[in-house]
Parts: sequence; C-alpha cells; structure tokens
Amino acid sequence: MGSATLCQLALRGRRVLGIEQYNQGHSLGSSHGDSRIIRETYFEHPLYVPLVQRAHALWRELEGRTGNSLMTITGGLMIGPPDGMVVTGTRRSAIEHDLPHEILDAGALRVRYPAFRPTEDMLAVWDPRAGVLDPDACNAAHIDVARATGAEVRWGERVIGWKPDGDGVRVNTAVNSYLTNSLVIAAGGWSGDLLPDLNLPLTVERQAVFWLDPAGPRSSYALGQFPIYAYEYQPGDVCYGFPRLAKGVKASVMHAGEIAGHPSAVRRDVGAADIEQLRAALRPILPELAESEVQATDTCMFTNTPDHDFIVDFHPGYPQVLVSSACSGHGFKFASVIGDIQADLLIEGRAQFDLSPFSIRRFGEHDRSD
Ligand SMILES: Cc1cc2nc3c(=O)[nH]c(=O)nc-3n(C[C@H](O)[C@H](O)[C@H](O)COP(=O)(O)OP(=O)(O)OC[C@H]3O[C@@H](n4cnc5c(N)ncnc54)[C@H](O)[C@@H]3O)c2cc1C
Repeated sequence: MGSATLCQLALRGRRVLGIEQYNQGHSLGSSHGDSRIIRETYFEHPLYVPLVQRAHALWRELEGRTGNSLMTITGGLMIGPPDGMVVTGTRRSAIEHDLPHEILDAGALRVRYPAFRPTEDMLAVWDPRAGVLDPDACNAAHIDVARATGAEVRWGERVIGWKPDGDGVRVNTAVNSYLTNSLVIAAGGWSGDLLPDLNLPLTVERQAVFWLDPAGPRSSYALGQFPIYAYEYQPGDVCYGFPRLAKGVKASVMHAGEIAGHPSAVRRDVGAADIEQLRAALRPILPELAESEVQATDTCMFTNTPDHDFIVDFHPGYPQVLVSSACSGHGFKFASVIGDIQADLLIEGRAQFDLSPFSIRRFGEHDRSD
C-alpha cells in the first residue's frame, strides 16, 4: 500500500519520501512472494467490485509503464454449497454489477477441470476475469516508477514516532527527523506501533502457505489450464489456490492461523499440523492435490479488522495524517487502487469511491478508548 501510494503521489508531481524499516522485497510483512489472487466477483461484499475494476485497470497501466508482466488472467472458480457464503456472495456481486459469470454444477466442473472432484451438492461460479498477481514484481514496479518520477526511498530506516507540527507532521526515525506536510501510515501489521492513540482493533494472524507437487499430468495444474479457486470447505471457512508456478502449486487455508500480539511474535516455522489442516480442507474437492508432496512452505501474516473490511481514512485527530490497513487477508489486489485513492485524498481531499465502510470511526469511540 505504501509503494503504490508513493508511486501515485510521485506521478502527480508531489515531492515524496518512502520510509521502510527493512530491505526492498523483505519477507517479514504481508506483501512478499510469487502470487496473490485477483478476482472481479467478490463474495465478501459487492462494494469491492468497482474498486477491483479500477485496480485491474491500474495494474495494466503499471505494466505499460514498466514493460513488466504483473497480472496473468486465469479465470477463477468460487466453489461451495449452493447456499454457502462463497457461492451466494459471488453470485450476488456478479448480479448487482452485471459481471460476466457462469454457474457450473459438479458434473460440468469435473468435465472442464478434471483435477476438481466436487461432490454432487457443490456448485461453482466461474469468474472469467480472475487471475494471479506477482506481488514482488508489483511492489518493485511501483517503487521503480516512483523513483523514476522523483520519489526517494529510505530502506532499513525504522519510523519510531511522529507528532503534529503546526499543519504538518514531524516524523522521527532511528537515524533522521523529517518535517512533512502530510504523512501516510501504511504499516501493515505494525500499524498499532505507529498509532497507539487510536487503539485500533487490529489483530495479526499467522498464515502458512504451501507449494505442492501433485503427481498427475503436469498439464492438469499448468498456468493457462488451471484457474485460481476459493473453496468453502466448511460453512464460512475458505481454502484457496493457484495454478503451478515456479515453486509448485500453491494452496492455503484462509484465517486458520494463530493470532499473534505483534508481527515480531508470529511463529515462522511450519509443521505437520499446518499441512494436515490444508490436506483436510482440500480433500473433498482436489483429492490428488491434497495428498501431494510439499515442495516449499512459507509464513506470512494477515492484519485483520473485526469486520474484515479495510481502513483507508484520515486520522480522526489530524487531517494531515492518512492511515491505510488494507489487509484482512484480501488486500493485495487493491494495492494499485489504494495508492490512487490515497493520492486523491491527499491532493483533492476526496476520492472517487465511497470510503465510509473503511472509516476509522466505524470502530467507535468506545473501542478506541479501551
Ligand atoms: C499468505 C497471504 C496470502 C494472501 N493472499 C492474498 C490474495 O490472494 N489476494 C489478495 O488480494 N490479498 C492477499 N493477501 C493480503 C495482502 O497480501 C495484504 O492485504 C497486503 O499485502 C497488505 O499490504 P500492506 O502494505 O498493508 O502491508 P505490508 O506489506 O506488511 O507493508 C507494511 C510495511 O510497513 C513497514 N513498516 C511497518 N512499520 C514500520 C516502521 N515503524 N518504520 C518503517 N517501516 C515500517 C513494514 O516493514 C512493511 O514493509 C494475502 C496475505 C497473505 C499473508
């Protein structure tokens, strides 16, 4: 979110500085790795559809600026019981926004994608515009364009605090002190460290991810032949995955990790219980993948709000400070549009989208004063 905002502000001619506590491409936050899902249908809520449509256009624009491939359209399957959250929410978003989609019953799904073995009581909604973003490449592209347009970036410099200074902000890092007109705090899991006064109800959740090596024909899972998918394996619970990429066929269970008090407390090892949890979730739908060998593992973290909607808002006490926490496990696809929105907010004072679902005030005074 920080890289995208830096890029959009630089493109609009602003003098901007990005400050990151670690090195470029580090793997201790939420945005590293080889893949993130982008999908146009949105089971979480239809309000995300216009945002993802703008994000899609901005990713393509960024590809045009850099000449790098960032997004591959694979199509996507949202699978589950007909009355479940994933299928009903996906259909609702598609109908409300008149999106191209197709309903596949279990038989049609097995014919089209033989790796999937759904039981007869399952349905799938096909989203033809879903696909895969390459997060490392996306972040690098935002940084490259920002720097080429005049932005500066300080890697390995930790912000230790900030305070209002007149209409501006004084930002102190471990080695420097900066005076700026405006500050954007896009600190992911570390947001609480930089916004202790707000007592935001954010939780940091460990997320284990796996790259598997299914034994069947390699073509069954190949990019271009196998889609991204989200599968509601039990009511309200989702696992998801990708086609085969360089490290294997990635899959993970959403929101099944331990809550850590802080990013520094996220457990980074991956054990037998984690893989068994994934195998159990995949078994009813992708049985061969469920039993396949693990090629690689990683851990990452979600920064969750209680309602799993984002935060994109000015600090309630300081209009020169903008805060974003666009995560809850589904934020990456929106990074391009969040950068655009934050630049609009800082320069125009308003955005082209209704941001009320992402307000800080929705958490209430009571939560913040606990
Ligand atoms: C395993 C996994 C899978 C996911 N899958 C998807 C998906 O398929 N699709 C999707 O759309 N989203 C997905 N997400 C969510 C998405 O990746 C996140 O929403 C997004 O990456 C969050 O970005 P961010 O900029 O808010 O946080 P981060 O990427 O963590 O960035 C915050 C940055 O702030 C820096 N920072 C913090 N404090 C300081 C400080 N004091 N001084 C200087 N720097 C500081 C940190 O070092 C970090 O680099 C997934 C997340 C995970 C973990």
